[in-house]
Amino acid sequence: MEAELNAALIELRTQALYRSRRVVDGPQAPQQVIDGREVLSFCSNDYLGLANHPEVIAALQRGADDYGVGAGAAHLINGHSRAHHVLEEALAEFTGYERALLFSTGYMANLGVITALLGKADAVFEDRLNHASLIDAGRLSGARLRRYRHVDPSSLDGWLGKHPQGRRLVVTDGVFSMDGDLAPLPALAASAARNKAWLMVDDAHGLGVLGRQGRGTLDHFGMDACEVPVLMGTLGKAFGTSGAFVAGSEALIETLIQQARSYIYTTALPPALAEATCTSLRLLQRGEGRRERLAALIQRFRHGAGQLGLELMVSETPIQPIVMGETARVVAVSEALLRRGILVTAIRPPTVPAGSARLRVTLSAAHSETQVDRLLDVLGEVAA
Ligand SMILES: *Cc1c(COP(=O)(O)O)cnc(C)c1O
Repeated sequence: MEAELNAALIELRTQALYRSRRVVDGPQAPQQVIDGREVLSFCSNDYLGLANHPEVIAALQRGADDYGVGAGAAHLINGHSRAHHVLEEALAEFTGYERALLFSTGYMANLGVITALLGKADAVFEDRLNHASLIDAGRLSGARLRRYRHVDPSSLDGWLGKHPQGRRLVVTDGVFSMDGDLAPLPALAASAARNKAWLMVDDAHGLGVLGRQGRGTLDHFGMDACEVPVLMGTLGKAFGTSGAFVAGSEALIETLIQQARSYIYTTALPPALAEATCTSLRLLQRGEGRRERLAALIQRFRHGAGQLGLELMVSETPIQPIVMGETARVVAVSEALLRRGILVTAIRPPTVPAGSARLRVTLSAAHSETQVDRLLDVLGEVAA
């Protein structure tokens, strides 16, 4: 076993695809101590700077006083606390759906929903650049998996026309996690409706960032629950906590409670985390100031990067990738940045398609203008 695994690991190293972890001391924040040294980082998904917010921390501590640490059981046994219940009601109201259901992670929420709704006789249609958890869920469901061209409703239409039988579920990221662009939700919803298919949106990167009060990509497009019957959101990004939820109708949520295996067969989130998330939801809804700051930083970064001649993608979101193509070049630039005290991770295949390796720069309302300028200066030295 050792010899065989080591040979495969060496192969990954030679392709510049070897992944390794860095050890962080202290909380998620722009200025971090990583592997024992101070760095300025531009790669978290803590878009509003809530992961280390004093009110959220206090709520987590209060929650621990009231509920202890572990939930001790799954939701359907005796692990479904008042704190979970109240958070689900708040999330339903926030997103404008009848109900919401908490999951322990976004990955598990996606697996749970898609496998609960679809089986062998069905078909699932996914954007080619959907998050890995959505692709994995489609595979695990046993349904036919068709991947349409990125943000292309006519490609979706074509596939839907070829698969008229069974349940049909269209699934898309709201904001694409590695590109930062938005799904054309109105056109996708129209295509789904024309073809009598269902639509599911994973809004991990839209919630908190886009729309009125941070209601996400649907609100950005002026859409609601009628057009998107299944909404998934994560709590580990703009919410700054951990976990995920699915919002939908009474019938959808009851179906998930009965059928979603990644909901049924797992321990409930710590109730204190639900308490903390209730507080972060309140801060997120009232976070207009944070969203304005973030938008200004995004414009500042795009303007500066344009002046350096860096190739950015069509993204108005905090996800601002710089595509470099060759895996080895991205790794070299990322290492050069780190030598100058800036952390931007290199994103390589298979996370992104071959030939499109990139630096995934993400911005947060917690960054300062000076910090963004510092990033631009150093990018000018090592990447332009
Ligand atoms: C992060 C992410 C997930 C997974 O959520 P976790 O809570 O981190 O497991 C799912 N979908 C998208 C689009 C994501 O970006």
